[in-house]
Amino acid sequence: MDHFDVLVVGAGISGVGAAYYLQSRCPGRSYAIFEAREAMGGTWDLFRYPGIRSDSDMFTLGFSFRPWTEAKAIADGPAILNYLKETAAAYGIDRHIRYQHRVRSASWDSATSRWTVEIERGSERTADKVTCGHLHMCAGYYNYAQGYRPPFPGEESFAGKIVHPQFWPTDLDYQNKRVVVIGSGATAVTLVPEMARDAAHVTMLQRSPTYVVSRPAEDAFANRLRAVLPAKLAYAIVRWRNVLGQMFMFRLARRRPQRVKTAIIDMVRQALGPDYDVATHFTPAYNPWDQRLCLVPDADLFEAIRTGAASVVTDHIERFTETGVALASGKVLPADIIVTATGLDMRLMSDLALTVDGAPVDPSQSFSYKGMMFSGVPNLSATFGYTNASWTLKADLTAEYLCRLLRHMDRHGYTECRPINADPNLEAAPWLDFSSGYIVRARDRLPKQGLVKPWKVNQNYALDLLYFRFGALEDGVMRFSRPMPAGASASAPLASPAKAPADAA
Ligand SMILES: Cc1cc2nc3c(=O)[nH]c(=O)nc-3n(C[C@H](O)[C@H](O)[C@H](O)COP(=O)(O)OP(=O)(O)OC[C@H]3O[C@@H](n4cnc5c(N)ncnc54)[C@H](O)[C@@H]3O)c2cc1C
Repeated sequence: MDHFDVLVVGAGISGVGAAYYLQSRCPGRSYAIFEAREAMGGTWDLFRYPGIRSDSDMFTLGFSFRPWTEAKAIADGPAILNYLKETAAAYGIDRHIRYQHRVRSASWDSATSRWTVEIERGSERTADKVTCGHLHMCAGYYNYAQGYRPPFPGEESFAGKIVHPQFWPTDLDYQNKRVVVIGSGATAVTLVPEMARDAAHVTMLQRSPTYVVSRPAEDAFANRLRAVLPAKLAYAIVRWRNVLGQMFMFRLARRRPQRVKTAIIDMVRQALGPDYDVATHFTPAYNPWDQRLCLVPDADLFEAIRTGAASVVTDHIERFTETGVALASGKVLPADIIVTATGLDMRLMSDLALTVDGAPVDPSQSFSYKGMMFSGVPNLSATFGYTNASWTLKADLTAEYLCRLLRHMDRHGYTECRPINADPNLEAAPWLDFSSGYIVRARDRLPKQGLVKPWKVNQNYALDLLYFRFGALEDGVMRFSRPMPAGASASAPLASPAKAPADAA
């Protein structure tokens, strides 16, 4: 059986970033990346709908160690995929990726300090096993096999095409077609202006509005700075400016929601003119940053609405008809194509089945440690990005911390690290403090966070940076242990302190 010191699962942004840190900071450790698909890039390879792009800036969605040098700060999907592939090639990370290696389950054995990982390999999905000392999950946060797609009454009667953005048909011809896009999240606001260029008309049909904010696709300051400073320095400056700006806006939104709400809605009003019904179509019932804001580059969505190429309808779907969508208000939207931009089906660690010494792990019963490990589960970490900032900021910190942990274990001869919750009264809160549909739908399956360190999940990069880089590794919660001395009984406990009652179960 192959053995790796660290097995990284997933070759998207998080997996590629983790590999960079592992090979540069823990060069003595062997690692491999197992990727279920035939290609790397994760999200940026899977999603192929027209106009696919980032909705946060590439100075923070890019890796800390590799400057983003393209002119566009809000970048197109193919450019992001290219950046990932170039990064993997530049650092020889691509040689460590094993494609069509789908990780199914992992069983931890305390006696050997190893995970035995069951995988499916190749197009035949042949069952196989490998072992590893540490499992680092970079499997993203949603189901790759299917998106979230509620059933709609009467959909079988619709004579046109129904498309989900996660599986965009390459041959879909929407030229001069009437398109209805259901939803008003990041995907819908990307698709609508892009399709409106060629379609007869595109209607964005939403149940309730979302906050939409326009930003220039190109960052003029960043582009000027790059012209006069070395790329790495310019990148670092713009990255920090964006991190701090984002943190400031988030705090302001939480402290003065009404002020931020008014400012956003005023901007929409300016973009769409005084006669547009902004109150109905662009004024959400929730506060800014209770859900992620939708970013549109160069006001492209508003431009499509102003020119009449696209429109927004806020209503409820009663049923699909043969020729379109019948709404609760009695209105009917004629359609040749319906795009169900209804979202993602959220998954934690791709629903990996885990056992620890034979006992199944139920992640929903665990507390998340620093937002990257789970109480009672040894030698396993997972990358999960910020909800209020670019994913990669947290992915970078998670990988850095993993390397600190592994180096600490090397120095002391530890083979196991296990966060233990010894406080049976630790107050629990939802892992993600966000009201977006995909998070709310998955809440029962997600771990909990505590209200105190290290169980609290910070949605704050600057705070995490200090905590992850300089915080004590031996914090009294993370229990380290060594292998048994030669001759010790196989059933003797490891050198770690006794498991605390809260996690022992
Ligand atoms: C359309 C879209 C736009 C987005 N835009 C932004 C943005 O602008 N800014 C931002 O911060 N975030 C954005 N996100 C979130 C985005 O997913 C993250 O930014 C980032 O791409 C996640 O990278 P990842 O490597 O963690 O996960 P993913 O990109 O999801 O990659 C996970 C990889 O793991 C593999 N995998 C999963 N399960 C297994 C398994 N069991 N065995 C083996 N391999 C497995 C998958 O095949 C995949 O390749 C966006 C998401 C979507 C869907």
